[in-house]
Amino acid sequence: MTTRSETQTTLDHLLTEIEHRNPAQPEFHQAAHEVLETLAPVVAARPEYAEPGLIERLVEPERQVMFRVPWQDDQGRVRVNRGFRVEFNSALGPYKGGLRFHPSVNLGVIKFLGFEQIFKNALTGLGIGGGKGGSDFDPHGRSDAEVMRFCQSFMTELYRHIGEHTDVPAGDIGVGGREIGYLFGQYRRITNRWESGVLTGKGQGWGGSLIRPEATGYGNVLFAAAMLRERGEDLEGQTAVVSGSGNVAIYTIEKLTALGANAVTCSDSSGYVVDEKGIDLDLLKQIKEVERGRVDAYAERRGTSARFVPGGSVWDVPADLALPSATQNELDENAAATLVRNGVKAVSEGANMPTTPEAVHLLQKAGVAFGPGKAANAGGVAVSALEMAQNHARTSWTAARVEEELADIMTSIHTTCHETAERYDAPGDYVTGANIAGFERVADAMLAQGVI
Ligand code: NDP
Repeated sequence: MTTRSETQTTLDHLLTEIEHRNPAQPEFHQAAHEVLETLAPVVAARPEYAEPGLIERLVEPERQVMFRVPWQDDQGRVRVNRGFRVEFNSALGPYKGGLRFHPSVNLGVIKFLGFEQIFKNALTGLGIGGGKGGSDFDPHGRSDAEVMRFCQSFMTELYRHIGEHTDVPAGDIGVGGREIGYLFGQYRRITNRWESGVLTGKGQGWGGSLIRPEATGYGNVLFAAAMLRERGEDLEGQTAVVSGSGNVAIYTIEKLTALGANAVTCSDSSGYVVDEKGIDLDLLKQIKEVERGRVDAYAERRGTSARFVPGGSVWDVPADLALPSATQNELDENAAATLVRNGVKAVSEGANMPTTPEAVHLLQKAGVAFGPGKAANAGGVAVSALEMAQNHARTSWTAARVEEELADIMTSIHTTCHETAERYDAPGDYVTGANIAGFERVADAMLAQGVI
Protein backbone atom coordinates (compact mmCIF):
# COMPACT_ATOMS: atom_id res chain seq x y z
CA MET A 1 0.00 0.00 0.00
CA THR A 2 1.25 3.49 -0.81
CA THR A 3 1.76 5.81 2.14
CA ARG A 4 0.20 9.23 2.42
CA SER A 5 3.52 10.96 1.90
CA GLU A 6 4.32 8.90 -1.24
CA THR A 7 0.86 9.76 -2.55
CA GLN A 8 1.39 13.43 -1.76
CA THR A 9 4.65 13.35 -3.72
CA THR A 10 2.79 11.95 -6.74
CA LEU A 11 0.12 14.64 -6.39
CA ASP A 12 2.81 17.33 -6.09
CA HIS A 13 4.35 16.13 -9.39
CA LEU A 14 0.95 16.36 -10.98
CA LEU A 15 0.53 19.92 -9.66
CA THR A 16 3.83 20.90 -11.25
CA GLU A 17 2.64 19.40 -14.53
CA ILE A 18 -0.67 21.29 -14.26
CA GLU A 19 1.27 24.55 -13.91
CA HIS A 20 3.35 23.75 -17.01
CA ARG A 21 0.39 22.65 -19.12
CA ASN A 22 -1.75 25.65 -18.12
CA PRO A 23 0.62 28.64 -18.11
CA ALA A 24 -0.51 32.06 -16.91
CA GLN A 25 -3.60 30.71 -15.13
CA PRO A 26 -2.78 31.50 -11.47
CA GLU A 27 -6.36 31.17 -10.22
CA PHE A 28 -6.67 27.71 -11.77
CA HIS A 29 -3.34 26.67 -10.25
CA GLN A 30 -4.54 27.93 -6.86
CA ALA A 31 -7.81 25.98 -7.09
CA ALA A 32 -5.98 22.81 -8.18
CA HIS A 33 -3.47 23.14 -5.31
CA GLU A 34 -6.27 23.69 -2.82
CA VAL A 35 -7.94 20.41 -3.81
CA LEU A 36 -4.95 18.18 -4.59
CA GLU A 37 -3.15 19.13 -1.39
CA THR A 38 -5.94 17.53 0.64
CA LEU A 39 -6.50 14.31 -1.33
CA ALA A 40 -3.49 12.23 -0.21
CA PRO A 41 -5.31 10.51 2.68
CA VAL A 42 -8.17 9.25 0.48
CA VAL A 43 -5.97 8.31 -2.49
CA ALA A 44 -3.61 6.41 -0.18
CA ALA A 45 -6.51 4.63 1.54
CA ARG A 46 -8.37 3.61 -1.63
CA PRO A 47 -6.01 2.20 -4.28
CA GLU A 48 -8.61 2.51 -7.06
CA TYR A 49 -8.19 6.30 -6.85
CA ALA A 50 -4.47 5.97 -7.57
CA GLU A 51 -5.34 4.41 -10.95
CA PRO A 52 -3.16 6.11 -13.57
CA GLY A 53 -5.02 8.82 -15.35
CA LEU A 54 -7.94 9.33 -12.98
CA ILE A 55 -6.80 12.58 -11.37
CA GLU A 56 -5.12 13.65 -14.64
CA ARG A 57 -8.54 13.39 -16.30
CA LEU A 58 -10.22 15.23 -13.43
CA VAL A 59 -7.98 18.30 -13.84
CA GLU A 60 -8.43 18.47 -17.63
CA PRO A 61 -11.73 20.02 -18.81
CA GLU A 62 -13.81 17.78 -21.08
CA ARG A 63 -14.30 20.75 -23.39
CA GLN A 64 -13.32 24.45 -23.52
CA VAL A 65 -15.04 26.90 -25.81
CA MET A 66 -13.83 30.43 -26.54
CA PHE A 67 -15.60 32.75 -28.91
CA ARG A 68 -15.87 36.29 -30.23
CA VAL A 69 -18.77 38.42 -28.97
CA PRO A 70 -19.26 41.49 -31.19
CA TRP A 71 -21.97 44.00 -30.23
CA GLN A 72 -22.88 47.62 -30.84
CA ASP A 73 -22.95 50.24 -28.09
CA ASP A 74 -25.54 53.02 -27.93
CA GLN A 75 -23.34 55.25 -30.11
CA GLY A 76 -23.29 52.62 -32.83
CA ARG A 77 -19.66 51.71 -32.19
CA VAL A 78 -18.74 48.06 -32.58
CA ARG A 79 -17.26 46.48 -29.47
CA VAL A 80 -15.64 43.08 -29.25
CA ASN A 81 -15.50 40.92 -26.14
CA ARG A 82 -14.41 37.37 -25.55
CA GLY A 83 -16.82 34.63 -24.45
CA PHE A 84 -15.95 31.41 -22.60
CA ARG A 85 -17.62 28.17 -21.60
CA VAL A 86 -15.59 25.49 -19.87
CA GLU A 87 -17.42 22.16 -19.69
CA PHE A 88 -15.30 20.57 -17.02
CA ASN A 89 -16.84 17.31 -15.91
CA SER A 90 -20.14 15.58 -16.71
CA ALA A 91 -19.71 12.32 -14.79
CA LEU A 92 -22.61 13.19 -12.45
CA GLY A 93 -24.95 15.05 -14.81
CA PRO A 94 -25.14 17.89 -17.33
CA TYR A 95 -22.46 20.57 -16.89
CA LYS A 96 -23.84 23.14 -14.45
CA GLY A 97 -22.38 26.46 -13.37
CA GLY A 98 -22.84 30.18 -13.79
CA LEU A 99 -21.78 32.81 -16.30
CA ARG A 100 -19.62 35.69 -15.05
CA PHE A 101 -19.50 39.06 -16.84
CA HIS A 102 -16.58 41.04 -15.42
CA PRO A 103 -13.50 42.69 -17.00
CA SER A 104 -11.21 40.36 -14.99
CA VAL A 105 -12.60 37.24 -16.70
CA ASN A 106 -10.11 35.12 -18.66
CA LEU A 107 -9.70 31.42 -19.35
CA GLY A 108 -7.82 30.76 -16.09
CA VAL A 109 -10.53 32.40 -13.99
CA ILE A 110 -13.26 30.39 -15.71
CA LYS A 111 -11.25 27.18 -15.27
CA PHE A 112 -10.77 27.80 -11.54
CA LEU A 113 -14.50 28.39 -11.17
CA GLY A 114 -15.38 25.33 -13.27
CA PHE A 115 -13.00 23.12 -11.30
CA GLU A 116 -14.48 24.26 -7.97
CA GLN A 117 -17.93 23.68 -9.38
CA ILE A 118 -17.29 19.95 -9.97
CA PHE A 119 -16.79 19.28 -6.26
CA LYS A 120 -19.44 21.74 -5.10
CA ASN A 121 -22.06 20.16 -7.32
CA ALA A 122 -21.05 16.68 -6.17
CA LEU A 123 -21.48 17.76 -2.54
CA THR A 124 -25.12 18.73 -3.13
CA GLY A 125 -25.87 15.05 -3.75
CA LEU A 126 -27.81 16.04 -6.90
CA GLY A 127 -27.21 14.95 -10.50
CA ILE A 128 -25.18 17.87 -11.87
CA GLY A 129 -21.72 18.03 -13.44
CA GLY A 130 -19.37 21.01 -13.32
CA GLY A 131 -18.93 23.89 -15.76
CA LYS A 132 -18.55 27.65 -15.85
CA GLY A 133 -18.51 30.44 -18.40
CA GLY A 134 -18.63 34.15 -18.96
CA SER A 135 -17.05 37.10 -20.66
CA ASP A 136 -14.72 40.03 -20.04
CA PHE A 137 -17.71 42.29 -20.77
CA ASP A 138 -18.32 44.89 -18.03
CA PRO A 139 -22.02 45.61 -17.52
CA HIS A 140 -21.32 48.54 -15.15
CA GLY A 141 -22.51 51.78 -16.68
CA ARG A 142 -24.06 50.07 -19.72
CA SER A 143 -27.66 50.81 -20.67
CA ASP A 144 -30.28 48.04 -20.63
CA ALA A 145 -30.26 48.11 -24.44
CA GLU A 146 -26.49 47.60 -24.56
CA VAL A 147 -26.67 44.73 -22.07
CA MET A 148 -29.44 43.17 -24.15
CA ARG A 149 -27.47 43.41 -27.40
CA PHE A 150 -24.41 41.95 -25.69
CA CYS A 151 -26.41 39.04 -24.22
CA GLN A 152 -28.03 38.33 -27.58
CA SER A 153 -24.66 38.21 -29.32
CA PHE A 154 -23.17 36.04 -26.55
CA MET A 155 -26.05 33.55 -26.81
CA THR A 156 -25.92 33.51 -30.61
CA GLU A 157 -22.68 31.56 -30.22
CA LEU A 158 -23.26 29.82 -26.88
CA TYR A 159 -26.61 28.26 -27.81
CA ARG A 160 -25.00 25.49 -29.89
CA HIS A 161 -23.05 24.22 -26.87
CA ILE A 162 -25.81 24.13 -24.22
CA GLY A 163 -29.12 22.39 -23.58
CA GLU A 164 -31.17 21.04 -20.68
CA HIS A 165 -29.47 17.63 -20.93
CA THR A 166 -26.05 18.99 -21.94
CA ASP A 167 -25.00 22.14 -20.17
CA VAL A 168 -27.11 24.46 -18.04
CA PRO A 169 -25.65 27.92 -17.29
CA ALA A 170 -26.90 30.33 -14.59
CA GLY A 171 -25.84 33.69 -13.12
CA ASP A 172 -22.68 34.77 -11.30
CA ILE A 173 -20.92 38.14 -10.94
CA GLY A 174 -22.52 40.61 -13.36
CA VAL A 175 -25.19 38.16 -14.47
CA GLY A 176 -28.51 38.44 -12.63
CA GLY A 177 -32.18 38.20 -13.53
CA ARG A 178 -31.97 40.86 -16.26
CA GLU A 179 -29.15 39.12 -18.13
CA ILE A 180 -30.68 35.64 -17.74
CA GLY A 181 -33.88 37.05 -19.26
CA TYR A 182 -32.09 38.39 -22.35
CA LEU A 183 -30.04 35.20 -22.70
CA PHE A 184 -33.10 32.97 -22.43
CA GLY A 185 -35.05 35.08 -24.91
CA GLN A 186 -32.33 34.75 -27.53
CA TYR A 187 -31.94 31.00 -26.93
CA ARG A 188 -35.70 30.54 -27.38
CA ARG A 189 -35.66 32.62 -30.55
CA ILE A 190 -32.74 30.79 -32.16
CA THR A 191 -33.87 27.27 -31.27
CA ASN A 192 -37.61 27.82 -31.59
CA ARG A 193 -38.04 25.71 -28.45
CA TRP A 194 -39.46 26.38 -25.02
CA GLU A 195 -36.64 24.60 -23.22
CA SER A 196 -36.89 26.16 -19.80
CA GLY A 197 -34.34 23.82 -18.20
CA VAL A 198 -31.51 25.26 -20.36
CA LEU A 199 -30.80 28.14 -17.96
CA THR A 200 -31.49 28.64 -14.26
CA GLY A 201 -32.09 31.83 -12.31
CA LYS A 202 -35.03 32.64 -14.60
CA GLY A 203 -37.78 35.05 -13.59
CA GLN A 204 -40.82 33.84 -11.74
CA GLY A 205 -43.68 33.31 -14.12
CA TRP A 206 -41.44 31.98 -16.91
CA GLY A 207 -39.79 28.99 -15.33
CA GLY A 208 -37.82 30.43 -12.42
CA SER A 209 -37.85 28.88 -8.98
CA LEU A 210 -38.91 30.70 -5.86
CA ILE A 211 -35.94 31.14 -3.47
CA ARG A 212 -33.32 30.81 -6.28
CA PRO A 213 -32.21 34.46 -5.90
CA GLU A 214 -31.93 34.00 -2.13
CA ALA A 215 -30.42 30.50 -2.17
CA THR A 216 -26.65 31.15 -2.15
CA GLY A 217 -26.76 33.72 0.64
CA TYR A 218 -29.37 31.86 2.70
CA GLY A 219 -27.45 28.60 2.26
CA ASN A 220 -24.17 30.16 3.39
CA VAL A 221 -25.79 31.49 6.57
CA LEU A 222 -27.27 28.04 7.26
CA PHE A 223 -23.81 26.53 6.79
CA ALA A 224 -22.26 29.09 9.18
CA ALA A 225 -25.01 28.34 11.70
CA ALA A 226 -24.27 24.61 11.45
CA MET A 227 -20.55 25.25 12.08
CA LEU A 228 -21.41 27.35 15.14
CA ARG A 229 -23.80 24.66 16.43
CA GLU A 230 -20.91 22.19 16.42
CA ARG A 231 -19.26 24.56 18.90
CA GLY A 232 -22.36 24.94 21.06
CA GLU A 233 -23.26 28.40 19.75
CA ASP A 234 -25.89 29.94 17.49
CA LEU A 235 -26.30 33.07 15.37
CA GLU A 236 -28.45 35.00 17.81
CA GLY A 237 -26.73 38.23 18.84
CA GLN A 238 -23.57 37.67 16.78
CA THR A 239 -22.09 40.55 14.82
CA ALA A 240 -21.26 39.76 11.19
CA VAL A 241 -19.15 41.44 8.52
CA VAL A 242 -20.22 40.77 4.95
CA SER A 243 -18.38 41.91 1.82
CA GLY A 244 -20.02 42.61 -1.52
CA SER A 245 -23.45 44.07 -2.16
CA GLY A 246 -24.69 41.88 -4.99
CA ASN A 247 -26.91 38.84 -5.06
CA VAL A 248 -24.98 36.73 -2.57
CA ALA A 249 -24.25 39.54 -0.09
CA ILE A 250 -27.82 40.88 -0.03
CA TYR A 251 -29.43 37.54 0.79
CA THR A 252 -26.66 36.68 3.25
CA ILE A 253 -27.52 39.85 5.15
CA GLU A 254 -31.24 39.06 4.90
CA LYS A 255 -30.85 35.59 6.45
CA LEU A 256 -28.37 36.74 9.11
CA THR A 257 -30.86 39.38 10.20
CA ALA A 258 -33.77 36.91 10.18
CA LEU A 259 -31.81 34.56 12.45
CA GLY A 260 -30.98 37.28 14.99
CA ALA A 261 -27.44 38.28 13.94
CA ASN A 262 -26.39 41.87 13.26
CA ALA A 263 -24.85 42.29 9.79
CA VAL A 264 -22.99 45.60 9.96
CA THR A 265 -21.19 45.92 6.61
CA CYS A 266 -21.45 45.63 2.87
CA SER A 267 -19.07 46.72 0.11
CA ASP A 268 -18.40 47.08 -3.60
CA SER A 269 -15.29 47.86 -5.62
CA SER A 270 -15.47 51.53 -4.51
CA GLY A 271 -15.22 50.84 -0.74
CA TYR A 272 -17.30 49.63 2.17
CA VAL A 273 -20.09 50.77 4.43
CA VAL A 274 -20.29 50.11 8.15
CA ASP A 275 -23.65 50.57 9.82
CA GLU A 276 -23.73 50.07 13.58
CA LYS A 277 -27.49 49.58 13.62
CA GLY A 278 -27.24 46.80 11.07
CA ILE A 279 -27.63 47.09 7.30
CA ASP A 280 -31.05 48.39 6.25
CA LEU A 281 -31.89 45.90 3.52
CA ASP A 282 -34.74 47.82 1.93
CA LEU A 283 -32.37 50.73 1.34
CA LEU A 284 -29.54 48.51 0.10
CA LYS A 285 -31.84 46.63 -2.31
CA GLN A 286 -33.24 49.93 -3.62
CA ILE A 287 -29.73 51.25 -4.34
CA LYS A 288 -28.22 48.03 -5.70
CA GLU A 289 -31.08 46.13 -7.31
CA VAL A 290 -33.26 49.01 -8.55
CA GLU A 291 -30.92 51.97 -9.10
CA ARG A 292 -27.75 49.90 -9.79
CA GLY A 293 -25.85 52.50 -7.72
CA ARG A 294 -22.73 52.41 -5.52
CA VAL A 295 -22.57 51.72 -1.77
CA ASP A 296 -21.59 55.29 -0.81
CA ALA A 297 -25.19 56.26 -1.68
CA TYR A 298 -26.29 53.94 1.15
CA ALA A 299 -24.25 55.84 3.75
CA GLU A 300 -25.47 59.20 2.40
CA ARG A 301 -29.12 58.22 2.72
CA ARG A 302 -29.01 56.11 5.89
CA GLY A 303 -28.15 58.83 8.40
CA THR A 304 -25.73 58.89 11.31
CA SER A 305 -25.45 55.16 12.03
CA ALA A 306 -23.64 54.49 8.76
CA ARG A 307 -20.39 55.66 7.23
CA PHE A 308 -18.69 54.96 3.92
CA VAL A 309 -14.99 54.08 3.86
CA PRO A 310 -13.51 54.56 0.37
CA GLY A 311 -11.13 51.71 -0.53
CA GLY A 312 -10.09 50.10 2.74
CA SER A 313 -10.77 46.61 3.98
CA VAL A 314 -14.12 45.53 5.31
CA TRP A 315 -12.25 42.93 7.41
CA ASP A 316 -10.95 45.73 9.66
CA VAL A 317 -14.43 45.94 11.23
CA PRO A 318 -14.53 43.82 14.43
CA ALA A 319 -17.04 40.95 14.28
CA ASP A 320 -17.85 37.41 15.45
CA LEU A 321 -18.47 36.16 11.92
CA ALA A 322 -17.09 37.01 8.49
CA LEU A 323 -18.90 36.09 5.28
CA PRO A 324 -16.88 37.10 2.18
CA SER A 325 -19.41 37.44 -0.64
CA ALA A 326 -17.72 39.48 -3.39
CA THR A 327 -14.88 37.83 -5.32
CA GLN A 328 -11.77 35.61 -5.30
CA ASN A 329 -8.78 36.41 -3.07
CA GLU A 330 -10.51 39.32 -1.32
CA LEU A 331 -9.49 38.11 2.17
CA ASP A 332 -5.71 37.82 2.49
CA GLU A 333 -3.35 36.86 5.29
CA ASN A 334 -3.27 40.37 6.80
CA ALA A 335 -7.04 40.56 6.80
CA ALA A 336 -7.26 37.12 8.40
CA ALA A 337 -4.81 38.20 11.12
CA THR A 338 -6.96 41.25 11.82
CA LEU A 339 -10.11 39.12 12.02
CA VAL A 340 -8.40 36.74 14.45
CA ARG A 341 -7.15 39.64 16.59
CA ASN A 342 -10.71 40.94 16.72
CA GLY A 343 -11.99 37.58 17.97
CA VAL A 344 -13.72 36.15 14.86
CA LYS A 345 -15.29 32.72 15.50
CA ALA A 346 -16.25 31.61 12.00
CA VAL A 347 -15.52 32.52 8.39
CA SER A 348 -17.91 31.14 5.79
CA GLU A 349 -17.31 31.71 2.08
CA GLY A 350 -20.27 33.00 0.06
CA ALA A 351 -17.97 33.91 -2.83
CA ASN A 352 -15.79 31.41 -4.69
CA MET A 353 -12.23 31.16 -3.31
CA PRO A 354 -12.39 34.59 -1.58
CA THR A 355 -9.84 33.57 1.05
CA THR A 356 -6.20 33.19 0.00
CA PRO A 357 -4.46 29.89 0.93
CA GLU A 358 -2.25 31.69 3.48
CA ALA A 359 -5.33 33.24 5.10
CA VAL A 360 -7.14 29.88 5.26
CA HIS A 361 -4.12 28.37 6.96
CA LEU A 362 -3.90 31.21 9.47
CA LEU A 363 -7.61 31.02 10.33
CA GLN A 364 -7.57 27.25 10.77
CA LYS A 365 -4.44 27.42 12.90
CA ALA A 366 -6.12 30.00 15.13
CA GLY A 367 -9.06 27.61 15.66
CA VAL A 368 -11.56 29.64 13.62
CA ALA A 369 -14.34 27.54 12.03
CA PHE A 370 -13.73 27.89 8.28
CA GLY A 371 -16.40 26.97 5.71
CA PRO A 372 -14.95 26.69 2.16
CA GLY A 373 -17.07 28.04 -0.68
CA LYS A 374 -17.53 24.73 -2.43
CA ALA A 375 -19.54 23.59 0.61
CA ALA A 376 -20.83 26.84 2.13
CA ASN A 377 -22.12 28.50 -1.06
CA ALA A 378 -23.49 25.34 -2.70
CA GLY A 379 -27.07 26.37 -1.86
CA GLY A 380 -27.29 28.43 -5.06
CA VAL A 381 -26.48 25.64 -7.45
CA ALA A 382 -28.56 23.22 -5.37
CA VAL A 383 -31.66 25.36 -5.87
CA SER A 384 -30.72 25.72 -9.54
CA ALA A 385 -30.94 21.92 -9.74
CA LEU A 386 -34.34 22.13 -8.02
CA GLU A 387 -35.34 24.71 -10.65
CA MET A 388 -34.36 22.18 -13.35
CA ALA A 389 -36.48 19.52 -11.60
CA GLN A 390 -39.49 21.86 -11.55
CA ASN A 391 -38.96 22.77 -15.22
CA HIS A 392 -38.77 19.10 -16.16
CA ALA A 393 -42.04 18.36 -14.38
CA ARG A 394 -43.61 21.61 -15.69
CA THR A 395 -44.56 22.62 -12.19
CA SER A 396 -43.51 25.10 -9.54
CA TRP A 397 -43.04 24.52 -5.87
CA THR A 398 -43.96 26.85 -3.00
CA ALA A 399 -41.27 29.00 -1.41
CA ALA A 400 -41.67 26.99 1.80
CA ARG A 401 -40.98 23.72 0.00
CA VAL A 402 -37.88 25.05 -1.76
CA GLU A 403 -36.56 26.58 1.46
CA GLU A 404 -37.08 23.34 3.31
CA GLU A 405 -35.19 21.40 0.64
CA LEU A 406 -32.40 23.99 0.71
CA ALA A 407 -32.10 23.69 4.50
CA ASP A 408 -31.97 19.87 4.26
CA ILE A 409 -29.27 20.04 1.56
CA MET A 410 -27.13 22.49 3.55
CA THR A 411 -27.44 20.36 6.69
CA SER A 412 -26.47 17.29 4.72
CA ILE A 413 -23.45 19.05 3.12
CA HIS A 414 -22.30 20.21 6.55
CA THR A 415 -22.67 16.70 8.02
CA THR A 416 -20.90 15.10 5.05
CA CYS A 417 -17.93 17.51 5.28
CA HIS A 418 -17.73 17.17 9.04
CA GLU A 419 -17.88 13.37 9.06
CA THR A 420 -15.50 12.99 6.12
CA ALA A 421 -12.92 15.21 7.83
CA GLU A 422 -13.16 13.05 10.97
CA ARG A 423 -12.86 9.87 8.93
CA TYR A 424 -9.58 11.12 7.44
CA ASP A 425 -8.04 12.34 10.71
CA ALA A 426 -8.76 16.02 10.14
CA PRO A 427 -11.51 16.79 12.66
CA GLY A 428 -13.07 20.22 12.19
CA ASP A 429 -11.25 20.75 8.86
CA TYR A 430 -14.10 21.51 6.46
CA VAL A 431 -11.69 22.14 3.58
CA THR A 432 -10.39 18.58 3.69
CA GLY A 433 -13.89 17.20 4.36
CA ALA A 434 -15.43 19.05 1.39
CA ASN A 435 -12.63 18.19 -1.04
CA ILE A 436 -12.53 14.50 -0.18
CA ALA A 437 -16.31 14.01 -0.07
CA GLY A 438 -16.78 15.81 -3.41
CA PHE A 439 -13.86 13.94 -4.95
CA GLU A 440 -15.13 10.51 -3.84
CA ARG A 441 -18.49 11.00 -5.52
CA VAL A 442 -17.06 12.24 -8.82
CA ALA A 443 -14.17 9.77 -8.87
CA ASP A 444 -16.50 6.79 -8.26
CA ALA A 445 -18.69 7.86 -11.18
CA MET A 446 -15.66 8.39 -13.45
CA LEU A 447 -14.22 4.98 -12.60
CA ALA A 448 -17.56 3.28 -13.26
CA GLN A 449 -17.93 5.01 -16.64
CA GLY A 450 -14.54 3.99 -18.04
CA VAL A 451 -11.76 5.96 -19.65
CA ILE A 452 -13.51 8.78 -21.49
P1 NDP B 1 -22.93 40.19 -8.10
O1 NDP B 1 -22.46 40.65 -9.41
O2 NDP B 1 -24.38 40.19 -7.81
O3 NDP B 1 -22.19 40.99 -6.93
C1 NDP B 1 -20.80 41.00 -6.85
C2 NDP B 1 -20.40 41.94 -5.72
O4 NDP B 1 -19.01 41.79 -5.47
C3 NDP B 1 -20.61 43.40 -6.10
O5 NDP B 1 -20.88 44.14 -4.93
C4 NDP B 1 -19.26 43.78 -6.70
O6 NDP B 1 -18.95 45.16 -6.62
C5 NDP B 1 -18.33 43.01 -5.81
N1 NDP B 1 -17.11 42.68 -6.57
C6 NDP B 1 -17.01 41.90 -7.66
N2 NDP B 1 -15.76 41.85 -8.12
C7 NDP B 1 -15.06 42.66 -7.30
C8 NDP B 1 -13.71 43.03 -7.25
N3 NDP B 1 -12.82 42.57 -8.15
N4 NDP B 1 -13.32 43.87 -6.25
C9 NDP B 1 -14.22 44.34 -5.34
N5 NDP B 1 -15.52 44.01 -5.35
C10 NDP B 1 -15.93 43.20 -6.31
O7 NDP B 1 -22.33 38.69 -7.94
P2 NDP B 1 -22.81 37.54 -6.96
O8 NDP B 1 -23.29 38.11 -5.68
O9 NDP B 1 -23.68 36.62 -7.72
O10 NDP B 1 -21.43 36.75 -6.74
C11 NDP B 1 -20.53 37.06 -5.66
C12 NDP B 1 -19.61 35.87 -5.42
O11 NDP B 1 -20.40 34.71 -5.05
C13 NDP B 1 -18.76 35.43 -6.61
O12 NDP B 1 -17.53 34.95 -6.13
C14 NDP B 1 -19.57 34.28 -7.19
O13 NDP B 1 -18.75 33.39 -7.94
C15 NDP B 1 -20.06 33.62 -5.91
N6 NDP B 1 -21.22 32.76 -6.06
C16 NDP B 1 -22.38 33.23 -6.61
C17 NDP B 1 -23.49 32.40 -6.71
C18 NDP B 1 -24.81 32.89 -7.18
O14 NDP B 1 -25.78 32.14 -7.06
N7 NDP B 1 -24.93 34.11 -7.68
C19 NDP B 1 -23.40 30.98 -6.34
C20 NDP B 1 -22.17 30.62 -5.69
C21 NDP B 1 -21.11 31.48 -5.59
P3 NDP B 1 -18.90 46.04 -7.97
O15 NDP B 1 -20.33 46.12 -8.42
O16 NDP B 1 -18.31 47.33 -7.57
O17 NDP B 1 -18.04 45.27 -8.95
